[in-house]
Amino acid sequence: MIEKQKQNPPYGGFLAVPPEEVERIFISPGPIYEPIQHSGIKWFAKSFWAAGFRKGDIAVNTFTYHLSPAGLLFHEALKDCGTTVVVTGTGNTDIQVQAMRDLKVTGFVGTPSFLMTVIKRAEEMGLVIGRDLPLRLAWFTGEMLAPSIRKTLEENYHIATAQAYAVTEPGGAIAYECREKHGMHMMDDYVVEIVDPETGRQLGPGEVGEIVVTPIHNKTWGLLRFGTGDMSSYTTEPCPCGRTASRITGIVGRSTDAVKVRGMFVVSRQAEAAVTGFDAVSRFQFVISRRENRDELAIKIELKDFSTDRKKLADELTAKFQDNCRVKPDAIEFVPSGTMTENQPKMLDTRKWD
Ligand SMILES: [Zn+2]
Repeated sequence: MIEKQKQNPPYGGFLAVPPEEVERIFISPGPIYEPIQHSGIKWFAKSFWAAGFRKGDIAVNTFTYHLSPAGLLFHEALKDCGTTVVVTGTGNTDIQVQAMRDLKVTGFVGTPSFLMTVIKRAEEMGLVIGRDLPLRLAWFTGEMLAPSIRKTLEENYHIATAQAYAVTEPGGAIAYECREKHGMHMMDDYVVEIVDPETGRQLGPGEVGEIVVTPIHNKTWGLLRFGTGDMSSYTTEPCPCGRTASRITGIVGRSTDAVKVRGMFVVSRQAEAAVTGFDAVSRFQFVISRRENRDELAIKIELKDFSTDRKKLADELTAKFQDNCRVKPDAIEFVPSGTMTENQPKMLDTRKWD
């Protein structure tokens, strides 16, 4: 996109309306000039509504209001839900805390890590969340919401959390969580596909592939099948919330960190998560090889404790890995301590295709 805009400035040939029809231009990371006509578009509002933002709520919007679309888009979406917005923008933790106390702010819009910073600062100032800061809702995007942080916010601070999956270039929110918090419903303002990143072909429910989106709400910006580079899968199972849109089941990593094993994409982060939960494991490596035209995946393990029951650990690891990645490891190999180093690649693909 950056190259295309350099060759054919300013929009790289993606402007789909006469230039005077462009309402605003964002300079999203890249830099990429992004022409937008936003009037009347409500797609982010669906996400805030699902998160519980209503008239009577007051929210701090801690996303940036300049250059990138985030601040302005979320502001307008909150307004569409009837919520009053405190235009705080990024940073200024002390001012955020002060405003949240003085204005009795009930909603936070930002990243999970910034909310944790704000809470920590508030507590240092002797304020009690729930009493001095009556926060009840938090809406996140732009950063993974770690399950541990979600648990802390919901159980210790009684703040209901919701997240959305947004990508700047195609113009915003692609998918969002409902109150079930079990996957993110696809926005009907996009055609969302999960595809094999090598061939671009659509994959079925449950198969891991790259998220590719075509915005259909935005007549200004002629993007077709924009590859996000993010890997996920989707489910068509009905959601108890009543929304009928399919759900993407979370971002499992980047397409550049994925390897294809027997036709399935294994993303490093997902694979690593399957192993890091076992205390007995000190170091590990996934080795992908090919024997007699079949891909094989072995997990090499260095143990912390030699008295570990290897058979039991191997069985549990195999089950956990298969559960996470949908590929069954062919072997769990225990290697002597000191064989592996901290800096070696976690995923080693030894296949030769020539
Ligand atoms: Zn739902």
